[in-house]
Amino acid sequence: MARIVNLGQQVWSNYHQTAECNLKARIELINGDEKNGRAHLKGVAETVRDLLREARQYHIPVRPVGAGWSPSPINVVEDGWLVETLRLNRTYKLAAKDLHEDCEVAAEALLLVQAGATVDEVYESAEEIGRSLRTGGASNGQSFAGACATGTHGSVWQAGGIQDHVRAVQMVTPERIFWISPEKAVLSDAFIAQTGSEIIRDDRIFAAAQLHVGAMGFVTAMLIETDPIYMVQNIQKAAKIKREHIDWLSRGEFRKFSNAFGLNESPYFQQVILNPFDPFDKKCLLRFLYKRPFDPNIPPPPPRDMGAGYDALTLLGKAMAHSDLFKGAIMQFAMEQGYPDNRDVDDPPAIATWGHTTEEHAPIASLFNGSVTLDRNRLSEVFDLIINNFRRGGGGTVVTLRFVRQAAGLLAPAHWPDNVVIDFDGPNIESSHSGYKKVIEALDGAGIPFTRHWGKTNNLDEQRVKRDYGQNFADWKWAQAQVMPDPADRQVFANEELVKLGLI
Ligand SMILES: Cc1cc2nc3c(=O)[nH]c(=O)nc-3n(C[C@H](O)[C@H](O)[C@H](O)COP(=O)(O)OP(=O)(O)OC[C@H]3O[C@@H](n4cnc5c(N)ncnc54)[C@H](O)[C@@H]3O)c2cc1C
Repeated sequence: MARIVNLGQQVWSNYHQTAECNLKARIELINGDEKNGRAHLKGVAETVRDLLREARQYHIPVRPVGAGWSPSPINVVEDGWLVETLRLNRTYKLAAKDLHEDCEVAAEALLLVQAGATVDEVYESAEEIGRSLRTGGASNGQSFAGACATGTHGSVWQAGGIQDHVRAVQMVTPERIFWISPEKAVLSDAFIAQTGSEIIRDDRIFAAAQLHVGAMGFVTAMLIETDPIYMVQNIQKAAKIKREHIDWLSRGEFRKFSNAFGLNESPYFQQVILNPFDPFDKKCLLRFLYKRPFDPNIPPPPPRDMGAGYDALTLLGKAMAHSDLFKGAIMQFAMEQGYPDNRDVDDPPAIATWGHTTEEHAPIASLFNGSVTLDRNRLSEVFDLIINNFRRGGGGTVVTLRFVRQAAGLLAPAHWPDNVVIDFDGPNIESSHSGYKKVIEALDGAGIPFTRHWGKTNNLDEQRVKRDYGQNFADWKWAQAQVMPDPADRQVFANEELVKLGLI
């Protein structure tokens, strides 16, 4: 079971202090002492179910929360219970007998993770058993369930989002406890029963549960598939790029791009951070990661040697420390300061496991984060439109280009076969919002389809979500109704933002 710690009525703010709420109670769930894994998973799920039942009875909305890292208000709830999961953070190996006979994934590739295990904790557990995640975000402090909920992604152009690792989800509603998996069974019936759960094996419901935006129930655990452990070599440098290089990236010519600025091989990860005041005459910050075989003799890198932490948000924090005015030259200075540990092709190679390519992140008060995701093949066509409109609207901080494949989940923003995600990270002031709005208007005006990150500022509403996701939205709603047929159960998960998005 889980211990319930009631931290009382209070005002709560999310990680970046972009949203706050008055709570009836802030509740922390903490793992109990139960040694048997299955009995423990059962006990935790039952504790959650009982809490949800009580909330339903008294009409109190409940918001499960991981690290609270989403800058959008999906993780706040007015006059409700905020239920924190970060201390539900165990990870377990499975034995072959725990798997269904139809399961095509070997037991050693699977890891059972509790919802509140952070991405970093999952990296560590995977490495201990000689495994690795395939992708992740720029930082690693999110809870695994929270990261999957919004489709957190990095820039591994051959992978989708972090939710792609998920093979089954333990989902709790006020009525029931389920393990949701694809039709092709993964977990054995006995394992599911021993964890106090019922079985849902359905491709559509599973695809809804992989990216649920916190509106399909309370996730208590997930089964994830990992890769054999590998390492990556980091090349990170400031360099001027030309327009033709954007054309290469648009066409997915990553190897050609890499050959021009990094190594003559296909990168595993490719990211470009631009100064929107002058993307071609001022230096961009390039980051390439190349896959390498695991070598146990290579020690973990010293802090920052892998460029870890130098995501756009960190760069921005540095810029904020220098000036309130985000003008081109100041930003360029901050950008280049942000990459002091340049690692070019002639430098001694910096190599580490995938888990060491990111690190914990220090909160920076009140940031703006917004992004658009679109068909990568249209990057060249929209590049000027996006940069010029962002600036024209007042936006003046770094713009990051990231690349991902089609991601899992009916509501995955990265739903084109190949995607570019364009991030705008700035201070939480009017000009950042207006710059982002101008980008949205310009893309709409030009008739370019795009989607937005669930966890970031997105100005979405139900009408727009329906338009962006079409049949996938209808399928997602259908799946939600299979898991929680009673509207009173769905209402337990209501908050203002999810209602506005049409997800509750
Ligand atoms: C420093 C920083 C770096 C970031 N980098 C990236 C990046 O590189 N790429 C990217 O895509 N995004 C990035 N983000 C966004 C972030 O990854 C997402 O917002 C992610 O969802 C946050 O995870 P969390 O555990 O904090 O979730 P929370 O913000 O706590 O919750 C997100 C949603 O999931 C729900 N939820 C959480 N736990 C559960 C549960 N157990 N059951 C049901 N619902 C649940 C919440 O109610 C909420 O609706 C970054 C954010 C920050 C602050």
